[in-house]
Amino acid sequence: MHTWKVVPLSPGQLLDVRPDDILNNGLYRRCSTYRGGGGYDKFPAIAARHFGGDEADYSTQFIVQLFGCNLDCSYCYVTRAGVWGDFERVTSDEMVEAFLASGQKVFHLMGGAPALQLPFWQELIATLRSKSPGSVFHSDLMLTERDYGATELSAISKTRCLYAVNIKGLDAEEWLKNTRKPLDETQFWKNWKSVQDAGLPAYVTFTGVSRDRVDSFWEKASKHSIDVSHWQGDSFVIDLIAYEAAPHVDDAPWGAVIQRSQK
Ligand code: SF4
Repeated sequence: MHTWKVVPLSPGQLLDVRPDDILNNGLYRRCSTYRGGGGYDKFPAIAARHFGGDEADYSTQFIVQLFGCNLDCSYCYVTRAGVWGDFERVTSDEMVEAFLASGQKVFHLMGGAPALQLPFWQELIATLRSKSPGSVFHSDLMLTERDYGATELSAISKTRCLYAVNIKGLDAEEWLKNTRKPLDETQFWKNWKSVQDAGLPAYVTFTGVSRDRVDSFWEKASKHSIDVSHWQGDSFVIDLIAYEAAPHVDDAPWGAVIQRSQK
């Protein structure tokens, strides 16, 4: 069984997390998407459309933050210390047991960049399904972490799974400004097309983008064989929120494992 690298909440991030929402001594957390606002609050309505039931069923999530990210966003509320922190190794079984104990219905595998571990999602989803068939598996795709394989995508296109395709800039310049990493446009469009071809249940978020250029972005997407009529309806812009963590984003170096004593 795969062992996941899970990073506990960082000191900067803890400034924004309510004590009641801290789970397992900070290894996991609970998140109310309504309270978070900024666009994240659209998740319950999207989930209810996909799976039925009341929006309230999907308004809170159990959150796991995996180690590592290919990006380095200047607004990262997880903070570098949270993305690159001293991780704990956890099996899929252990994660799902913690999820069950939390009483939540939505399991959100977050990062960092969870799709760096895409080949292992299948195992986690199978474990979740066997122990909690009615729960929802949710995770994030940024289209740039690695090449997505058709087989691994088809393996995660399952019942009661829902994915966010998170777009961090409408062009290479805006992407670089937001993420402090260059955009590989070839990989971006190729991965999006692969997600589309696999029929993944997914919606689109835009973070830190110029709202007045979103329409022209969709025109560009159609030229890259993206089915705009399919994607555009379930897409929205996420507002940048003034998190208390903001002054602490760069407290640690990018890309190095940060020992707890240094955080
Ligand atoms: S994608 Fe950006 S905001 Fe998300 S964890 Fe990575 S650096 Fe932070």
